[in-house]
Amino acid sequence: TRQFFVGGNFKMNPATQEQKRALVKVLNEATIDPAVEVVVAPPAIYLLALKEIVRKEIKVSAQNCYLKSSGAFTGEISPAQLVDAGVPYVILGHSERRTLFHETSAFVAQKTRAALDTGLSIILCVGETLEEREAGKTAQVVEDQLKPVVEALKPEDWSKIVVAYEPVWAIGTGKVATSAQAQEAHANIRAFLSSAVSPAVAESTRVIYGGSVTAANCKELGVYQASYIRLPAVPVIGHTFGVCAQLDVDGFLVGGASLKPEFVDIINAKK
Ligand code: 13P
Repeated sequence: TRQFFVGGNFKMNPATQEQKRALVKVLNEATIDPAVEVVVAPPAIYLLALKEIVRKEIKVSAQNCYLKSSGAFTGEISPAQLVDAGVPYVILGHSERRTLFHETSAFVAQKTRAALDTGLSIILCVGETLEEREAGKTAQVVEDQLKPVVEALKPEDWSKIVVAYEPVWAIGTGKVATSAQAQEAHANIRAFLSSAVSPAVAESTRVIYGGSVTAANCKELGVYQASYIRLPAVPVIGHTFGVCAQLDVDGFLVGGASLKPEFVDIINAKK
């Protein structure tokens, strides 16, 4: 079974240290489902301080890193520096990096390799634009983003990868994917991993959803729908049961809502 994963990507927020401390206070005082892996990704400048003050069950993540260990790369942070600072995770391939900072899938794959070699775990983001979805290219686009990573990794590396499916049209727009859209994309990712890597890797790799996730929609996104049950061994009564058990949705990567107290409700979505 795949451990439920909820990540908070603070992006270039909050603007002040005081706001950062207030966010941490909320997280530290909340009741958090111990079964969930929780990771928060503050801006790099806050990583060390946040790691010191946040409760130990919550891990920290960088939002990006470069591929070299050190050298003349002004403005960059290396995987080795993250490991030295006790940071276990890094987000790579976020759509904002791909679009605003022109990162290609090949570059993301190189950085993934470098981060893995240093001992980091990676939240690897993929996702299509609205134009690509409307052209029926979602699965192809996501596969094309994953392919260079598959080529750069050994099967055993996948235990350190969490794939975040983040449709670009849902990021920061308030326009969330339906649970059916998320399930379909996640199932496609799993099918691709099954054929390109192995069925075992496809089964064990967590695929989380990101894009306008809120406390109000996270349960709906994860509602286990009878129509998705592949193994007819157990008779199903009714259409939905449980929450956040959408077969292939193993958690969330949360942007805007991770800066608010409702992040706690998203972490506890399975409760
Ligand atoms: P929002 O939750 O603000 O849409 O951002 C999602 C995201 O990009 C997380 O990485």
